[in-house]
Parts: sequence; structure tokens; C-alpha cells
Amino acid sequence: MIKQADPGAWYRAHRQAVDAAVARVLASGWYILGAEVDAFEAEFRRYLGCEFALGVASGTDALELALRAVGVGPDDTVATVSMTAVATAAAIDRTGAQTRFIDIDPQRMTLSPDALRAWLDDPGQAPPKAVIVVHLYGQPADMAAIAALLDGRGIALIEDCAQSHGATIDGRATGTWGDIGCFSMYPTKNLGAFGDAGAVVTNDPALYERLKLLRQYGWRQRFISSTRGFNSRLDEIQAAILRTRLPHLDRDNAQRRAIAACYDAQLAGGPLTLPAHIPGTTPVFHQYVVRSPDRDRLAAALKAQRIGTAIHYPAAVHQQPAYQDAAARSPALPCTEAATATVLSLPIYPELPLADCTRVGRALATAGRQE
Ligand SMILES: *Cc1c(COP(=O)(O)O)cnc(C)c1O
Repeated sequence: MIKQADPGAWYRAHRQAVDAAVARVLASGWYILGAEVDAFEAEFRRYLGCEFALGVASGTDALELALRAVGVGPDDTVATVSMTAVATAAAIDRTGAQTRFIDIDPQRMTLSPDALRAWLDDPGQAPPKAVIVVHLYGQPADMAAIAALLDGRGIALIEDCAQSHGATIDGRATGTWGDIGCFSMYPTKNLGAFGDAGAVVTNDPALYERLKLLRQYGWRQRFISSTRGFNSRLDEIQAAILRTRLPHLDRDNAQRRAIAACYDAQLAGGPLTLPAHIPGTTPVFHQYVVRSPDRDRLAAALKAQRIGTAIHYPAAVHQQPAYQDAAARSPALPCTEAATATVLSLPIYPELPLADCTRVGRALATAGRQE
């Protein structure tokens, strides 16, 4: 069986280091927001090359805190893509703001600057308070174009980096281009904890201060709430585990790129649409996603050979029953709808042997010929 993802593989390969980190925390007698979280925050911001990082309880929380930190509330509108995990929209919902979905660029599969410009220029639309860009599948969005578009309009730019830990544009990490970068360390992500975890990062000291207050009841001083906040703390065990994983992230991402290159080499020239190569960017292949009008048959053919695949996502957010109101108020999303109907995620995780990747490529090529 070749699995599509294998979140337990990393632990099996680094069992001693993880066990030692967990034992260290258990023995310390301090379990939430302590020395491990402080150290992880310092190491993570150094890794990304930004000023501030804060550990929080999940990626969804990271997005909600970011939106609240830039002032988003119930009277506001937030623009994002529909081609994303529902968590992106759920975070907007929790602020009480309204979501507007904007179409994707069909090559990158991320927010289309042209579609965003057209929507912003529509005189019938009130300007949004914030835009959330999603670096889907670990492919960096066109941040330079999007930032230039928002410049001077008083619209906050938030990056959903739940799938892009370590991805760069012109050498600069995703998460450090906008006002706030939001990370999920859900176990299947490129930098995964063994439970829920997340982080927010920024270069702005005022935003950092607001995020920090929001994370824990608005406390500047223990038990005294200077503003209203939440409980979205990161625990010490997850932080200690993340500290053992972070030094391996670049190598793990390089391994994902090697797997992607192996698929590219085998599938080039065939009927499938392969992930785009965008000059100046270093993607991290959270997923390796091919596109085909025939994807259901291909998935079944691979399954018959005990090869796992997945669809990220079978329905875009605006196509889901709970989001019909937001869908009705959003512009048309033809590229998003074309994408969700054709995407197929192949097996990819750092420990996947390249021989398995070759087997997947062969199975796909054979299935592709049996039209
Ligand atoms: C995983 C994910 C999230 C949510 O993160 P959680 O830690 O599960 O709350 C948000 N956005 C995207 C694009 C994701 O893939």
C-alpha cells in the first residue's frame, strides 16, 4: 500500500528525539506557554526571517486572531479564495465579518490578482477590511502583485501559510510578505505537531502586541484583562515536538520537491496538467496536485493498485451547503470550479521512497493510456 500521506512516518524516523522532548516537558511541571513555547517562537521567527512569532492553538485560531488584530469585526467584509480548506472561511465567520470569494489564477491555483483588482474596482462593492491569501498546496501566491494592488487602500493583507511552511518568493518566506502570516501545525502539515498547534508571525510591533493580548484573555498582567481576548495558547509538549521538527523542515521540504521532480519527469508530455513552475519561487509541495477531467477514473485505477490519492478539495467552499449566502454575494468563480472538478493529489510526504513515486508514475501513465 502506498499511502497518500503518512503523518506517523516522521515519528517512526525520529522516535528518540521526540520521546526525549516529550519526557522533558512532562518532567518540567510546566505545560502551557512556557520555556518551550518561547524557544519555539524565537526559532520559528529566525527560520522565517521576521521579527515576531507567537504560538497559538491552531491554524484556524491563527487566522481569527490575525483578522481581529487588524480590526476585522461584524461590520466588515473579508475577501479570500474559495479554493481552500474550509478553515479559512470558518476563521472569517468567527469574527462576524462577511466573506467574499475571489477566483484563483489557474496556473498557481492561488488568489488571482486580476480577479481581485476587478472586484476591488467594482463600484458596487464596499472595500474589504482584509484580504486573506492562501498559499495552496505549498505554491506561493503572487504576493508582489497582490501587495501592490492593496497598497495605500487601507486593506490588511493576511497570509494563510497552513500549507506553505518554508516556501519562499525571491528568497523571502511566505508569511513575511503581508501584515500577518498564519500557520497551522496540524499533524499532516509540512511542519506538523502531534496534536493541534498554530502560529502567527509579523514584523509589526503593534500587531504583535495585539495578537499577544488576544491569545490570552487580553492579559498584559496576569488576571487583569486590558482588552477582551481568548484562550488560544500553545502547549509545551507540542512546542517541544515542533522544536525537534523545525531543524529538519528544509530537508523534509527538499525531499518533497525531489518527489515532485520525480512525478514531473514521469508525467511530462502526458495528458495530465502538472503543477506550474513559477520563476523566483520555491514551493514546498504540501500536495502534488495533477489535473485531469478523468481524475475519478485515474483515482480508481490507482486504488486498484493499492495507491492512495486524495482530492483537495472535492467542493470549493462556495459550493458547500453552509456557504451559499457568501457564494451568492461573491463574483463568478469559473477557474475555482474548473479546478475542483479536476484536481487529484498524488502520494507525497518526505519519507515516501522515490521507488514508490516511480511506481505511482507508471501506474498513472498506464491508466492514462486506457481511455
Ligand atoms: C489546515 C489548514 C487550515 C486550518 O488549520 P487548523 O490547524 O486545522 O485549524 C487553514 N487553512 C488551510 C489552507 C489549511 O490547509
